[in-house]
Amino acid sequence: MFADRINRIQPSATLEMTAKAADLRSKGLDVINLSVGEPDFNTPDNIINAAKKAMLEGYTKYTPGSGTLDLRKAVSAKLKRDNKLQYKPNEIIVSCGGKHSLYNACQVLFQKDDEVIIFSPYWVSFPDFVSVTGAKPVFVKTNAEKQYEPIFEDLEKKINSNTKGVIINSPSNPTGGVWSKEAILETLKIAKKNNLWVFSDECYEQLTYDSPFDSIATLSKNKERILTFQSCSKTYAMTGWRIGYTAGNEKVIKAMSKLQGQSTSCPNSIAQYAAKEALIGNQEFVVNMRKTFKKRRKLIVDGLNNISNVSCDNPGGAFYVFPNIHFFLNKKYKGKIIKNSSDLSMLLLEEKLVVSVSGNSFGSNDNIRLSYAASENDINNALIRMEELFNKIK
Ligand code: PLP
Repeated sequence: MFADRINRIQPSATLEMTAKAADLRSKGLDVINLSVGEPDFNTPDNIINAAKKAMLEGYTKYTPGSGTLDLRKAVSAKLKRDNKLQYKPNEIIVSCGGKHSLYNACQVLFQKDDEVIIFSPYWVSFPDFVSVTGAKPVFVKTNAEKQYEPIFEDLEKKINSNTKGVIINSPSNPTGGVWSKEAILETLKIAKKNNLWVFSDECYEQLTYDSPFDSIATLSKNKERILTFQSCSKTYAMTGWRIGYTAGNEKVIKAMSKLQGQSTSCPNSIAQYAAKEALIGNQEFVVNMRKTFKKRRKLIVDGLNNISNVSCDNPGGAFYVFPNIHFFLNKKYKGKIIKNSSDLSMLLLEEKLVVSVSGNSFGSNDNIRLSYAASENDINNALIRMEELFNKIK
Protein backbone atom coordinates (compact mmCIF):
# COMPACT_ATOMS: atom_id res chain seq x y z
CA MET A 1 0.00 0.00 0.00
CA PHE A 2 2.72 2.47 0.99
CA ALA A 3 5.62 3.98 -0.95
CA ASP A 4 9.06 2.53 -0.06
CA ARG A 5 10.24 5.69 1.65
CA ILE A 6 7.87 5.36 4.59
CA ASN A 7 9.28 1.92 5.38
CA ARG A 8 12.77 3.37 5.49
CA ILE A 9 12.05 5.37 8.66
CA GLN A 10 11.19 4.62 12.31
CA PRO A 11 8.80 6.44 14.66
CA SER A 12 10.65 8.89 16.95
CA ALA A 13 11.55 7.00 20.14
CA THR A 14 11.68 10.13 22.26
CA LEU A 15 8.24 11.34 21.16
CA GLU A 16 6.92 7.83 21.87
CA MET A 17 8.29 7.94 25.45
CA THR A 18 6.80 11.41 26.01
CA ALA A 19 3.40 10.10 24.90
CA LYS A 20 3.70 7.10 27.24
CA ALA A 21 4.52 9.39 30.18
CA ALA A 22 1.54 11.63 29.41
CA ASP A 23 -0.72 8.58 29.27
CA LEU A 24 0.41 7.33 32.70
CA ARG A 25 0.09 10.80 34.19
CA SER A 26 -3.46 11.13 32.85
CA LYS A 27 -4.28 8.01 34.87
CA GLY A 28 -3.30 9.93 38.00
CA LEU A 29 0.04 8.15 38.58
CA ASP A 30 3.01 9.96 40.15
CA VAL A 31 5.21 9.89 37.07
CA ILE A 32 8.61 11.64 36.94
CA ASN A 33 9.40 12.40 33.36
CA LEU A 34 13.12 12.61 32.62
CA SER A 35 12.62 11.87 28.94
CA VAL A 36 11.77 15.40 27.91
CA GLY A 37 13.65 17.07 25.10
CA GLU A 38 12.53 20.59 25.89
CA PRO A 39 13.19 23.23 28.56
CA ASP A 40 10.70 23.10 31.44
CA PHE A 41 10.14 26.88 31.30
CA ASN A 42 7.50 28.86 29.51
CA THR A 43 8.41 31.02 26.52
CA PRO A 44 9.45 34.45 27.89
CA ASP A 45 6.76 37.16 28.00
CA ASN A 46 8.47 39.54 25.58
CA ILE A 47 8.32 36.82 22.92
CA ILE A 48 4.69 35.98 23.64
CA ASN A 49 3.82 39.68 23.49
CA ALA A 50 5.50 40.03 20.11
CA ALA A 51 3.29 37.22 18.81
CA LYS A 52 0.15 38.85 20.25
CA LYS A 53 1.09 42.15 18.62
CA ALA A 54 1.69 40.44 15.26
CA MET A 55 -1.75 38.85 15.39
CA LEU A 56 -3.50 42.08 16.33
CA GLU A 57 -1.71 43.97 13.59
CA GLY A 58 -2.75 41.43 10.96
CA TYR A 59 0.53 39.62 10.34
CA THR A 60 -1.42 36.42 9.96
CA LYS A 61 -0.89 35.75 6.27
CA TYR A 62 1.58 33.78 4.14
CA THR A 63 5.12 35.11 4.28
CA PRO A 64 7.94 34.63 1.77
CA GLY A 65 8.75 30.90 1.58
CA SER A 66 12.13 31.15 3.27
CA GLY A 67 10.86 33.44 6.06
CA THR A 68 10.33 37.21 6.28
CA LEU A 69 13.26 39.40 5.33
CA ASP A 70 13.01 41.00 8.79
CA LEU A 71 13.46 37.66 10.52
CA ARG A 72 16.31 36.60 8.24
CA LYS A 73 18.00 39.94 9.05
CA ALA A 74 17.47 39.15 12.75
CA VAL A 75 19.03 35.71 12.28
CA SER A 76 21.96 37.33 10.49
CA ALA A 77 22.43 39.78 13.38
CA LYS A 78 22.13 36.98 15.96
CA LEU A 79 24.70 34.83 14.17
CA LYS A 80 27.09 37.77 14.17
CA ARG A 81 26.45 38.67 17.83
CA ASP A 82 26.54 35.19 19.35
CA ASN A 83 28.55 33.12 16.91
CA LYS A 84 30.83 35.55 15.04
CA LEU A 85 29.34 34.22 11.81
CA GLN A 86 28.76 36.44 8.79
CA TYR A 87 25.76 35.40 6.71
CA LYS A 88 23.55 37.64 4.58
CA PRO A 89 19.75 37.16 4.61
CA ASN A 90 19.92 35.40 1.21
CA GLU A 91 22.23 32.82 2.81
CA ILE A 92 19.60 32.05 5.47
CA ILE A 93 16.35 30.10 5.38
CA VAL A 94 13.85 29.86 8.23
CA SER A 95 11.95 26.57 8.51
CA CYS A 96 9.40 24.91 10.80
CA GLY A 97 11.95 23.98 13.48
CA GLY A 98 15.53 22.80 13.30
CA LYS A 99 14.20 19.35 12.48
CA HIS A 100 12.55 20.66 9.33
CA SER A 101 15.73 22.56 8.43
CA LEU A 102 17.84 19.38 8.67
CA TYR A 103 15.22 17.35 6.82
CA ASN A 104 15.10 19.85 3.94
CA ALA A 105 18.89 20.03 3.65
CA CYS A 106 19.15 16.21 3.49
CA GLN A 107 16.45 16.18 0.82
CA VAL A 108 18.27 18.63 -1.42
CA LEU A 109 21.78 17.18 -1.04
CA PHE A 110 21.50 13.39 -0.57
CA GLN A 111 20.03 10.56 -2.62
CA LYS A 112 20.30 6.85 -3.45
CA ASP A 113 23.89 5.50 -3.46
CA ASP A 114 25.14 8.35 -1.26
CA GLU A 115 26.47 7.68 2.21
CA VAL A 116 26.30 10.09 5.13
CA ILE A 117 28.43 9.86 8.27
CA ILE A 118 26.65 10.01 11.62
CA PHE A 119 28.48 9.81 14.94
CA SER A 120 27.11 7.25 17.34
CA PRO A 121 25.39 7.75 19.83
CA TYR A 122 23.27 9.98 17.63
CA TRP A 123 20.07 11.98 17.83
CA VAL A 124 17.27 9.59 16.85
CA SER A 125 16.23 11.56 13.77
CA PHE A 126 19.57 11.77 11.94
CA PRO A 127 19.51 8.23 10.45
CA ASP A 128 15.91 8.72 9.34
CA PHE A 129 16.57 12.09 7.69
CA VAL A 130 19.25 10.33 5.65
CA SER A 131 17.39 7.07 4.97
CA VAL A 132 14.26 8.77 3.71
CA THR A 133 16.30 10.34 0.89
CA GLY A 134 17.45 6.86 -0.20
CA ALA A 135 21.00 7.50 1.02
CA LYS A 136 22.68 5.28 3.62
CA PRO A 137 23.53 6.42 7.15
CA VAL A 138 27.00 5.20 8.14
CA PHE A 139 27.82 5.17 11.86
CA VAL A 140 31.17 6.17 13.30
CA LYS A 141 32.30 5.26 16.81
CA THR A 142 33.02 7.89 19.44
CA ASN A 143 34.93 8.06 22.69
CA ALA A 144 32.60 8.14 25.71
CA GLU A 145 35.41 9.31 27.98
CA LYS A 146 36.15 12.34 25.76
CA GLN A 147 32.74 13.97 25.36
CA TYR A 148 31.91 11.49 22.60
CA GLU A 149 34.45 12.93 20.20
CA PRO A 150 35.00 10.86 17.05
CA ILE A 151 37.34 7.90 16.95
CA PHE A 152 39.22 9.21 13.94
CA GLU A 153 40.57 5.86 12.70
CA ASP A 154 36.97 4.70 12.44
CA LEU A 155 35.94 7.91 10.66
CA GLU A 156 38.69 7.53 8.05
CA LYS A 157 37.79 3.85 7.62
CA LYS A 158 34.11 4.58 6.98
CA ILE A 159 34.67 7.18 4.25
CA ASN A 160 34.60 6.01 0.63
CA SER A 161 33.85 7.49 -2.77
CA ASN A 162 30.08 7.40 -2.05
CA THR A 163 30.39 9.46 1.14
CA LYS A 164 28.69 12.77 0.59
CA GLY A 165 28.24 14.33 3.99
CA VAL A 166 28.86 14.28 7.72
CA ILE A 167 26.51 15.39 10.49
CA ILE A 168 28.02 16.95 13.61
CA ASN A 169 25.94 17.68 16.70
CA SER A 170 27.91 19.35 19.47
CA PRO A 171 26.51 19.88 22.13
CA SER A 172 24.93 16.52 21.52
CA ASN A 173 21.60 14.94 22.03
CA PRO A 174 21.66 12.30 23.60
CA THR A 175 25.06 12.52 25.30
CA GLY A 176 25.39 16.22 26.15
CA GLY A 177 28.95 15.88 24.85
CA VAL A 178 30.74 19.00 23.60
CA TRP A 179 33.66 18.39 21.26
CA SER A 180 36.96 20.17 21.72
CA LYS A 181 38.20 22.61 19.10
CA GLU A 182 40.88 20.06 18.13
CA ALA A 183 38.30 17.34 17.47
CA ILE A 184 36.24 19.68 15.31
CA LEU A 185 39.30 20.87 13.37
CA GLU A 186 40.35 17.28 12.72
CA THR A 187 36.83 16.38 11.53
CA LEU A 188 36.77 19.44 9.26
CA LYS A 189 40.15 18.50 7.84
CA ILE A 190 38.96 15.00 6.97
CA ALA A 191 35.70 16.40 5.54
CA LYS A 192 37.60 18.86 3.35
CA LYS A 193 40.00 16.20 2.08
CA ASN A 194 37.01 14.11 1.01
CA ASN A 195 34.91 16.99 -0.29
CA LEU A 196 32.04 16.30 2.13
CA TRP A 197 29.11 18.49 3.08
CA VAL A 198 29.37 19.31 6.78
CA PHE A 199 26.09 19.69 8.66
CA SER A 200 26.55 21.37 12.03
CA ASP A 201 23.44 20.90 14.15
CA GLU A 202 23.86 23.64 16.75
CA CYS A 203 20.44 23.56 18.34
CA TYR A 204 22.01 23.45 21.85
CA GLU A 205 24.62 26.15 21.10
CA GLN A 206 23.50 28.36 24.00
CA LEU A 207 23.70 25.51 26.48
CA THR A 208 27.37 24.90 27.21
CA TYR A 209 28.55 25.02 30.81
CA ASP A 210 32.33 24.72 30.93
CA SER A 211 33.50 26.75 27.96
CA PRO A 212 31.98 29.17 25.47
CA PHE A 213 30.56 27.60 22.33
CA ASP A 214 32.43 27.88 19.02
CA SER A 215 30.21 27.63 15.98
CA ILE A 216 31.83 25.11 13.65
CA ALA A 217 31.85 27.36 10.58
CA THR A 218 34.04 29.86 12.47
CA LEU A 219 36.76 27.22 12.65
CA SER A 220 37.14 26.91 8.89
CA LYS A 221 38.54 29.34 6.36
CA ASN A 222 36.37 27.77 3.71
CA LYS A 223 32.76 27.52 4.84
CA GLU A 224 31.32 26.87 1.35
CA ARG A 225 30.45 23.30 2.27
CA ILE A 226 29.37 23.92 5.87
CA LEU A 227 25.72 24.33 6.75
CA THR A 228 24.86 25.67 10.20
CA PHE A 229 21.53 24.70 11.76
CA GLN A 230 20.16 26.49 14.80
CA SER A 231 16.75 26.75 16.39
CA CYS A 232 14.62 28.89 18.69
CA SER A 233 13.25 25.72 20.32
CA LYS A 234 15.71 24.99 23.11
CA THR A 235 17.29 28.44 23.44
CA TYR A 236 14.05 30.32 24.07
CA ALA A 237 11.79 27.50 25.30
CA MET A 238 9.90 27.73 22.02
CA THR A 239 9.62 24.07 20.99
CA GLY A 240 5.96 24.38 20.04
CA TRP A 241 6.40 27.50 17.92
CA ARG A 242 8.42 25.54 15.34
CA ILE A 243 11.11 27.97 14.21
CA GLY A 244 14.57 26.85 13.15
CA TYR A 245 16.97 28.15 10.54
CA THR A 246 19.86 27.21 8.29
CA ALA A 247 22.77 29.41 7.24
CA GLY A 248 25.16 28.52 4.45
CA ASN A 249 25.90 28.31 0.76
CA GLU A 250 23.36 30.47 -1.11
CA LYS A 251 22.71 27.82 -3.76
CA VAL A 252 21.79 25.21 -1.15
CA ILE A 253 19.61 27.72 0.69
CA LYS A 254 17.81 28.48 -2.58
CA ALA A 255 17.21 24.78 -3.27
CA MET A 256 15.87 24.30 0.27
CA SER A 257 13.60 27.27 -0.27
CA LYS A 258 12.24 25.74 -3.48
CA LEU A 259 11.44 22.50 -1.64
CA GLN A 260 9.91 24.34 1.30
CA GLY A 261 7.76 26.45 -1.03
CA GLN A 262 6.21 23.24 -2.34
CA SER A 263 5.69 21.65 1.07
CA THR A 264 4.88 24.01 3.96
CA SER A 265 4.77 27.21 1.83
CA CYS A 266 6.41 29.11 4.69
CA PRO A 267 6.94 28.83 8.43
CA ASN A 268 4.09 30.06 10.66
CA SER A 269 3.83 33.84 10.27
CA ILE A 270 3.05 34.64 13.93
CA ALA A 271 5.89 32.44 15.19
CA GLN A 272 8.24 34.31 12.85
CA TYR A 273 7.39 37.63 14.52
CA ALA A 274 7.91 36.01 17.91
CA ALA A 275 11.24 34.55 16.77
CA LYS A 276 12.50 37.96 15.69
CA GLU A 277 11.92 39.25 19.22
CA ALA A 278 13.52 36.12 20.66
CA LEU A 279 16.68 36.50 18.60
CA ILE A 280 17.30 40.22 18.93
CA GLY A 281 15.35 41.15 22.09
CA ASN A 282 16.54 40.84 25.69
CA GLN A 283 18.69 37.71 26.21
CA GLU A 284 18.48 37.56 30.02
CA PHE A 285 16.20 34.50 29.92
CA VAL A 286 18.93 32.48 28.18
CA VAL A 287 21.55 33.47 30.76
CA ASN A 288 19.27 32.46 33.64
CA MET A 289 18.22 29.19 32.01
CA ARG A 290 21.87 28.28 31.45
CA LYS A 291 22.64 28.91 35.15
CA THR A 292 19.70 26.75 36.23
CA PHE A 293 20.71 23.89 33.95
CA LYS A 294 24.31 24.06 35.14
CA LYS A 295 23.16 23.61 38.75
CA ARG A 296 20.93 20.70 37.83
CA ARG A 297 23.69 19.06 35.81
CA LYS A 298 25.81 18.83 38.94
CA LEU A 299 22.89 17.48 40.95
CA ILE A 300 22.11 14.68 38.50
CA VAL A 301 25.71 13.75 37.62
CA ASP A 302 26.74 13.56 41.30
CA GLY A 303 23.57 11.68 42.16
CA LEU A 304 24.05 9.11 39.43
CA ASN A 305 27.69 8.53 40.33
CA ASN A 306 26.58 7.86 43.93
CA ILE A 307 24.43 4.94 42.78
CA SER A 308 26.37 1.67 42.86
CA ASN A 309 27.33 0.30 39.45
CA VAL A 310 26.24 3.40 37.53
CA SER A 311 28.78 5.77 36.05
CA CYS A 312 28.13 9.11 34.46
CA ASP A 313 30.60 11.46 32.79
CA ASN A 314 30.11 15.19 33.10
CA PRO A 315 28.65 16.33 29.77
CA GLY A 316 29.69 19.81 28.62
CA GLY A 317 26.29 20.91 27.32
CA ALA A 318 22.62 20.46 26.36
CA PHE A 319 20.35 19.16 29.17
CA TYR A 320 20.96 15.44 28.97
CA VAL A 321 23.09 12.92 30.80
CA PHE A 322 23.87 9.53 29.35
CA PRO A 323 24.84 7.29 32.27
CA ASN A 324 26.44 3.93 31.63
CA ILE A 325 24.18 1.10 32.85
CA HIS A 326 26.14 -1.80 31.32
CA PHE A 327 26.45 -3.53 34.72
CA PHE A 328 22.71 -4.30 34.83
CA LEU A 329 22.51 -5.97 31.42
CA ASN A 330 21.96 -9.71 31.52
CA LYS A 331 21.23 -9.50 35.26
CA LYS A 332 17.85 -10.34 36.80
CA TYR A 333 15.02 -8.42 38.41
CA LYS A 334 12.22 -10.52 39.93
CA GLY A 335 13.49 -13.51 37.96
CA LYS A 336 13.37 -11.73 34.59
CA ILE A 337 16.55 -11.07 32.61
CA ILE A 338 17.30 -7.49 31.55
CA LYS A 339 18.40 -8.08 27.98
CA ASN A 340 19.09 -4.54 26.84
CA SER A 341 18.80 -0.88 27.77
CA SER A 342 15.16 -0.81 26.56
CA ASP A 343 14.31 -3.46 29.15
CA LEU A 344 15.97 -1.37 31.86
CA SER A 345 14.23 1.79 30.74
CA MET A 346 10.87 -0.02 30.72
CA LEU A 347 11.55 -1.48 34.18
CA LEU A 348 12.24 2.02 35.51
CA LEU A 349 8.93 3.15 34.11
CA GLU A 350 6.84 0.20 35.24
CA GLU A 351 8.37 -0.27 38.71
CA LYS A 352 9.27 3.30 39.64
CA LEU A 353 7.32 5.55 37.24
CA VAL A 354 10.52 7.24 36.09
CA VAL A 355 10.55 7.95 32.37
CA SER A 356 13.91 7.70 30.60
CA VAL A 357 14.86 6.91 27.01
CA SER A 358 16.83 3.75 26.34
CA GLY A 359 20.25 4.16 24.77
CA ASN A 360 19.27 1.67 22.06
CA SER A 361 17.24 4.33 20.33
CA PHE A 362 20.41 6.41 20.02
CA GLY A 363 22.66 3.53 18.96
CA SER A 364 24.11 2.69 22.38
CA ASN A 365 22.92 -0.29 24.38
CA ASP A 366 25.09 0.53 27.40
CA ASN A 367 23.29 3.73 28.34
CA ILE A 368 20.00 5.40 29.10
CA ARG A 369 19.28 9.05 28.45
CA LEU A 370 17.98 11.24 31.24
CA SER A 371 16.96 14.84 30.74
CA TYR A 372 17.49 17.41 33.47
CA ALA A 373 14.93 19.74 32.01
CA ALA A 374 13.02 18.92 35.20
CA SER A 375 12.76 20.45 38.68
CA GLU A 376 15.42 19.74 41.32
CA ASN A 377 12.73 18.03 43.32
CA ASP A 378 11.89 15.68 40.44
CA ILE A 379 15.58 14.98 39.83
CA ASN A 380 16.15 14.15 43.52
CA ASN A 381 13.13 11.87 43.69
CA ALA A 382 14.02 10.14 40.42
CA LEU A 383 17.53 9.47 41.76
CA ILE A 384 16.08 7.89 44.92
CA ARG A 385 13.72 5.71 42.88
CA MET A 386 16.49 4.65 40.49
CA GLU A 387 18.77 3.66 43.36
CA GLU A 388 15.98 1.61 44.97
CA LEU A 389 15.41 -0.28 41.73
CA PHE A 390 19.04 -0.72 40.71
CA ASN A 391 19.97 -2.10 44.15
CA LYS A 392 17.51 -4.93 43.61
CA ILE A 393 18.92 -6.02 40.28
CA LYS A 394 21.09 -9.09 40.82
N1 PLP B 1 18.70 18.63 16.65
C1 PLP B 1 18.77 17.98 17.82
C2 PLP B 1 20.04 17.34 18.19
C3 PLP B 1 17.67 17.92 18.66
O1 PLP B 1 17.75 17.28 19.83
C4 PLP B 1 16.45 18.52 18.25
C5 PLP B 1 15.25 18.40 19.07
O2 PLP B 1 15.13 17.59 19.95
C6 PLP B 1 16.44 19.22 17.03
C7 PLP B 1 17.58 19.24 16.26
C8 PLP B 1 15.24 19.89 16.48
O3 PLP B 1 14.54 20.72 17.28
P1 PLP B 1 13.45 21.68 16.67
O4 PLP B 1 12.89 21.04 15.44
O5 PLP B 1 12.43 21.82 17.74
O6 PLP B 1 14.14 22.96 16.34
